[in-house]
This record gives sequence, C-alpha cells and structure tokens, in this order.
Amino acid sequence: PNVTLLRHGCIGTAPHVPSIAFTLRTLSVYRETHRPCPRFSAEAEIRALCYLNRIPYQAALANHFRITYDAYLSIRHEIQSRINNALGRSTPNWRALNSCPACEYRLENEPKLPFSKLVALDGNNSLRRIDPTAISDRTPLLDGRGPLTDYWIDSMTVDRFKDEVKKAKKPPEDAAAGADSHSICVERWRNAGPEERKRMWAMFAETGIFLGACRHGFVLFICDMIQSGELAKYPLALTSQLIDLFGSDIAIGYDIGCAFSST
Ligand SMILES: [Zn+2]
Repeated sequence: PNVTLLRHGCIGTAPHVPSIAFTLRTLSVYRETHRPCPRFSAEAEIRALCYLNRIPYQAALANHFRITYDAYLSIRHEIQSRINNALGRSTPNWRALNSCPACEYRLENEPKLPFSKLVALDGNNSLRRIDPTAISDRTPLLDGRGPLTDYWIDSMTVDRFKDEVKKAKKPPEDAAAGADSHSICVERWRNAGPEERKRMWAMFAETGIFLGACRHGFVLFICDMIQSGELAKYPLALTSQLIDLFGSDIAIGYDIGCAFSST
C-alpha cells in the first residue's frame, strides 16, 4: 500500500496496513521549518495540523508523524546516496575535500601560500537536546543510529581523544610559569578554564555541536558535544581529522587557542 500511497504523494504510518498517511508536502515543509528551528517539535507540528484541520489533538498522531518523518528522511537519504554514487561523490571525505571550490580548486603552477587552508573551529550550545530520562521517569529511548555522512565525527572517534588532555598536562611548576600568557582567558572564558569547570547541566543529553569550517564558511567536520561543555577532546578530534586530510600546513583559528595550544 505504501508504494501506491507514495505514487499519490503520501507516506503511510505503517509498512503493511496504514490507516493514516501524511503528504510529502507536509513532511517537506516540516523538514524545512525544523532545520532553522530544531526546537519546533513533531508534537507542535501535529498540534498545528490538527488545529488547521479542525480535529482534536491526539498524542498518538504525533507518534505516527515521527515514524513517517523518519521513513521520509531515510527515503531522502537513499535518493541522495544514489545520486552521489552516480556522480562519483561517494569516496571517503568527498565533502570535506570538494565542498569549497576556492580552497580546493588549485591552478597549475599556482604559487604556494604560507598556509594551504584557513580553518575556524568553535562550539555552540544552540542545539542542546534535553535527556527525557533526566527530568522524568521515562524509559530511555535507545538510538542505535550513527552519522549518515562522513563529515560527522561519531562519539567513539571523539572519545579516543578524551585522555589526551590528561596526558598533555604539564607538571605544576611549568604550568605556573606559563600561567601569565593565558590567565586572562581562563578568567574570562569559561571554555578556556579547567576541564572540570566545563560540566553541563545533567538534563542535557547533547549540549550542542562543535564544528570546523574553512574561511569561506563551508563546514568540513562536525561532531556532537555529549553531556559536557566544550571539552578539549572535540577540537582535538577535529584537528586530527583536518591534519590527516589536508596535511599540517593548515592554519586553525579557535577562540581559546591560547589554552588549547598547551593541550
Ligand atoms: Zn574555503
């Protein structure tokens, strides 16, 4: 039935005997709205749709919508993967290596610049996601999905760098000698302070994202910040990927570079 429904521009809420379906137009509008405003939930969308259609809101409808929206996103992803395959864009790190023509399109006999690429790194807390189990008795929802694109660095890769900070810590006398250079940053910037001070409220499962972009604004790598503030493992993971891919003659800008350089 879903094949027939899809031919008519709808996706059913169940694979075999769907009793409810959402139009592709509704799902597409929700996707475009949700991208600039991630807090716009499926529940809010269904409340609005129920109001527009003059029917009473039911919580089950929001669940149906979430299931259908997941199916819609996986169909879109499959289509995009097939297009990428056909265009030869499915090689590892294709996006990071090819997204910016200004950085990556090199001319013959082009003079070598002091740095082959300028990259900026920073974290942001706008995409915080509340952990439902921290604020209620709900059973945790396990999400076994991993990143679908290779510019997302998964949490296991990031966690490989979590012990690097401890390893790189200087003995106390060295730390005291070098304290002047970034003591002002440590005072003024929470992210430049000690790792223990970067704890986030326990209610957030994800506390934001950390990303690296070239100087023309193209995102090269991105990772989730999970149950923590802006720990050093995030910039370390991104820096490692950037150096592996572009070599060590890149310049990286980071707002707490003074504190990060000692890591
Ligand atoms: Zn660029």
